[in-house]
Order: sequence, then structure tokens, then C-alpha cells
Amino acid sequence: MSNAPQNTLISPFDLTDDDGYTWVKGNLHSHTTNSDGQPSPQERLDGYVEHDYDYLCLSDHYKITRIDSVDCPDNFILIQGAELHPENPFGGQTHHFVVLNIHEDMDSKNMPPQHVIDEAIKQGGSVWLAHPHWSSVNIIRDTLPLQGLAGIEVFNTTCRRMGRGEGTIHWDDWMDLTDTLLPALANDDAHAKQETKRDTYEGWTMARVRERTADAVTDALEAGASYGSTGPEIHDIQLRRVDEVSDDKHVVEATVRSSEAQSVNAVCDTFGTEHRPGNGTFDQAVFTIRPNARWARFEVMGPDGSKAWSNPFDLTRVEHE
Ligand SMILES: [Zn+2]
Ligand SMILES: [Zn+2]
Repeated sequence: MSNAPQNTLISPFDLTDDDGYTWVKGNLHSHTTNSDGQPSPQERLDGYVEHDYDYLCLSDHYKITRIDSVDCPDNFILIQGAELHPENPFGGQTHHFVVLNIHEDMDSKNMPPQHVIDEAIKQGGSVWLAHPHWSSVNIIRDTLPLQGLAGIEVFNTTCRRMGRGEGTIHWDDWMDLTDTLLPALANDDAHAKQETKRDTYEGWTMARVRERTADAVTDALEAGASYGSTGPEIHDIQLRRVDEVSDDKHVVEATVRSSEAQSVNAVCDTFGTEHRPGNGTFDQAVFTIRPNARWARFEVMGPDGSKAWSNPFDLTRVEHE
């Protein structure tokens, strides 16, 4: 099948232990007393270190919280960044961008959004669309005029508290409109102290890296070598083409291995498929995706309703083994 989406992502499940890859767990969106968060930068970092995270970004509003302003354990990956909010000239609400791996502050409030993205990229940074549902983002109006965004926040713990935690519809819409596969993050957007158990340690992104550095994590996230979660672990996703070669249908079989799950959905550019046996939980799902779907991303739901979101896979490039 020709007509492939415009880009490809790297599956984290194709990056092997033998080649030196490991999983790292992190949260890219958190606030401290340097903006409207309650804990100090050090308390925020210590909390994530104590909860066995591997990486964190202290993404305060407007201004970089310097990673050298806190005492960070050697093995922990602290990513320097900020949440930047240029005005929105396209009619929607002020933009919320989680910006990773930047080194110089900028006057984002007074810069057009495209200039903020360009400046961040010039610094080697990575710019992500934050909590689109909570911000009432309209992808056509507010996002399509912009170039260079790395991807989308598919889950945000703080916004879930306000009933708008998921950005899946925006994610799919953006991919459909641009015919481009986009990677996603799951984040806490933590503002409160951990004692309140309000917006900490509930949404995270697992990334597949060879080095424990901010650059390696950011590169993995941009390449799609990651998945987001509020609970389930995804252990493997493999795809193979199972239709007859002579047929004009392109049928792909998915094998999804995970922690205990009650359902797995293949969310596709067209139709979509649910695997829900209905007679208890499972840790491996093998099912065929509706014919001629061009891409699929997978949502795994745990027994408690928590979810994990894989990045999208290009099905047009899946061939017979
Ligand atoms: Zn925000
Ligand atoms: Zn925020």
C-alpha cells in the first residue's frame, strides 16, 4: 500500500536491551515556587526522585528554573525548560507550550507564537502543545498555523482534576489534518505539594534511551520512542501483515503485551478496533486491525481504568514477514 503518512516514528519496542537501551520514567511538566507551584524547586525534584522517576522538567511559567539551582542526584536526568505562553493571534486562548531543553529565557509573552517556537528550536529545544482540551484548543484555528511543534500532551493530571485531562481527540485531529504521525507525552503539570495527593505522580512518560542525558530523553520523545501512562505498562507492540498478497486489502495483526489489562484499543485514522474479551483480564492481545487503516495508536486500559497510550504506528509500511 502506498500513500504512507508523511513521516515515520521510531517504535520504542524495536530498541533492544542488547543495543544498550533502557526505559526511563519521567514527568516533563511541573511547577515550583518560581511560578505558581507550592513546593520549592528542590522539594519538587526530591519528590520525583523519591518516587523512582528517572527524569523531570521543572517547567515554570514564563521563566526557566535553572537546573544548577537545585541539588540533583548524579543518576537523575533533570531537563531544563519552562512553560511558555505567547499570546494567540489566531482567536483562541493564550498558548501553553511545554518547552524542553532550552537555555536562554525569552520574552514569550510579547513574542508571536511562531517566534517562540523558532527561538526554542534554535536553542536546541523541543516544544510541545500542552493540555489542548483544557485550553479549548481548536487545532485548525490555533495549531495548524504553527510550524515546528514536536507533539502533544495526551494526558495532564491537573487538567483531569478539572475534567479535561485527555487530549486524544486533539491528537487524532492534528494527525488527520496534517497526515503526520505525532508523538505524545503524559504529564502531571504538578502544582500542589505531594501531601495533598492532588496532581503528582499520576501521569508519566516512559522513554527508551541509551544515555541518561537530557538530550537523549528529548530526542527519544521527539522520535516517538516512548509511551505515556497513568498506570499500565506496555511491554511490546509488534505488527505484521496478514492479508493475502493478491488481495487489495491491507490487513495488519497487532500483538500487544502489557501489564494486566481489561481492554486494548487500536485507534486508527479510519474506524478502529477494540480488543476486550469480556471474560477477565489479559496481558497479551492479538487481534487484527480493520483493513486499510493507514496508522494506529494503541490504548491499553488497566483493571482500574488507568490507561497507557502508545505513539502511532505507520501501518502502510508493515509488510508480510
Ligand atoms: Zn498550562
Ligand atoms: Zn503547567
